[in-house]
Amino acid sequence: MSRQLRVAVIGAGPAGIYAADILTKSEFTSGEVSGVTIDILDRDPSPFGLIRYGVAPDHPRIKEIVKALKRVLSNDDIRFFGNVNYGADLKLDHLQQFYDAIIFATGARADRDLDIPGIDLRGSFGAADFVSWYDGHPDAPREWDFQPHAESVAVLGVGNVGLDVARMLAKTADEQLVTEIPQNVYDGLKANAAKDVHVFARRGPAQVKFTPMELRELSHSPNVDVIVHPEGFELDEGSMDSIRASKSVKLVVDVLQNYLAKEPTGADHRIHIHFCHNPVEILGEDGQVTGLRTEVTELDGTGNARGTGEFVDWPVQAVYRAVGYRSDNLAGIPFDNNSATVPNDGGRVIDIDGSALPGAYVTGWIKRGPVGLIGHTKSDAAETIRLLLEDIDTLKTPPNPNREDVDTYLDGRGIEYTTWAGWEKLDQHEIDLGEAAGRTRIKVVPREDMVSISREG
Ligand SMILES: Cc1cc2nc3c(=O)[nH]c(=O)nc-3n(C[C@H](O)[C@H](O)[C@H](O)COP(=O)(O)OP(=O)(O)OC[C@H]3O[C@@H](n4cnc5c(N)ncnc54)[C@H](O)[C@@H]3O)c2cc1C
Repeated sequence: MSRQLRVAVIGAGPAGIYAADILTKSEFTSGEVSGVTIDILDRDPSPFGLIRYGVAPDHPRIKEIVKALKRVLSNDDIRFFGNVNYGADLKLDHLQQFYDAIIFATGARADRDLDIPGIDLRGSFGAADFVSWYDGHPDAPREWDFQPHAESVAVLGVGNVGLDVARMLAKTADEQLVTEIPQNVYDGLKANAAKDVHVFARRGPAQVKFTPMELRELSHSPNVDVIVHPEGFELDEGSMDSIRASKSVKLVVDVLQNYLAKEPTGADHRIHIHFCHNPVEILGEDGQVTGLRTEVTELDGTGNARGTGEFVDWPVQAVYRAVGYRSDNLAGIPFDNNSATVPNDGGRVIDIDGSALPGAYVTGWIKRGPVGLIGHTKSDAAETIRLLLEDIDTLKTPPNPNREDVDTYLDGRGIEYTTWAGWEKLDQHEIDLGEAAGRTRIKVVPREDMVSISREG
């Protein structure tokens, strides 16, 4: 008797959804198995991962990617179970009861550590926490600790997340009112006193990780001047090599040069970009951030930087660390603490002894670390699915392969899961809230509200 392959995807971010899409479109048969049904489980009550809870609210065009992902999740062969936390609500051996294969696509949501003194002072923040707050994640606190005296703030890190944070701090709350930000975020942003946002790069302009479009966009607000400081604006031989080797690096350096040459307009808010300053300490008094100490660096000819022994103290009242994201450890799955990824070979999970963990796969940021854009997760998912299909004859048949077995299990455990139909209700509810206020959407934040709206009726 033939049956369908049963696959669980843990994580309904882009990587997990692309993996499900590619798998349902793949042609395969193996023994009694033909065709596939997939369940995507996510600890958030809503799908879309960092597209909903990472991409900045003033990037609606990027958030539109969910339109394509919605078409994938409307496929009857794919089900969504939200508000189900792998590791807490179920573990690997539970999943193995129901599925031939499990794909982990759990991404990353926490800040990578930055080991400098002063990190624990009040006013020292991780970018990931700030992003979760302004994007209305249900587990983020509802209030942000903006302080009325914090007119100068520092952002450490020169990737696109650093740009998002700088932009969100420099723009006015009213500029964000056309976006989907919830009321608590709008109210919070109104209390943000930042006038000068200082972004610090350890190296030079050819070493930053910005992308050209995001960097250009920084100046699109009429309320913000972008000021690139000439000190440290160095291009050594290593930098010239990078410029010659990469069109994107060349474009970034061009944009920075344009900012450097531009006269400020006298806007109320300023984003300053400083090169060749390595943050070494967050300074404080009475437990509160009062400054940032940087060591001036110089490029060594290869594009790397070395300290000069000269230090500068910047009087800032808050510091945001945007030095990268970090994935969480997954219960029962090997984890490499250094790279904060699941060890894998092209997507097959690898045990400590180097052997493949049967039936377990990874894709997206948990597979290759927290770098790259949404589009990159697609090719990543294609590679993982190719390997899964190569392994298909070796996968262990689960004892309970029927779709309903999963519902029965979750119901039996009293887990208040949300479904795709539930998400459509919440989606419509948020659109209606927006329409009433002349906006396209207003996000619902509390988990219990998201769940009850999704499950009502
Ligand atoms: C602040 C920020 C801004 C960004 N802006 C852009 C942008 O403008 N453009 C762009 O192209 N890219 C942007 N990116 C990058 C993009 O978000 C990532 O490339 C992409 O989201 C990675 O996809 P993923 O599916 O691997 O992970 P994620 O999007 O993180 O999805 C992982 C999912 O797994 C779920 N999960 C985690 N743990 C568990 C668990 N234990 N049980 C169940 N579910 C779990 C999470 O809830 C989440 O829904 C941004 C990233 C960040 C951090």
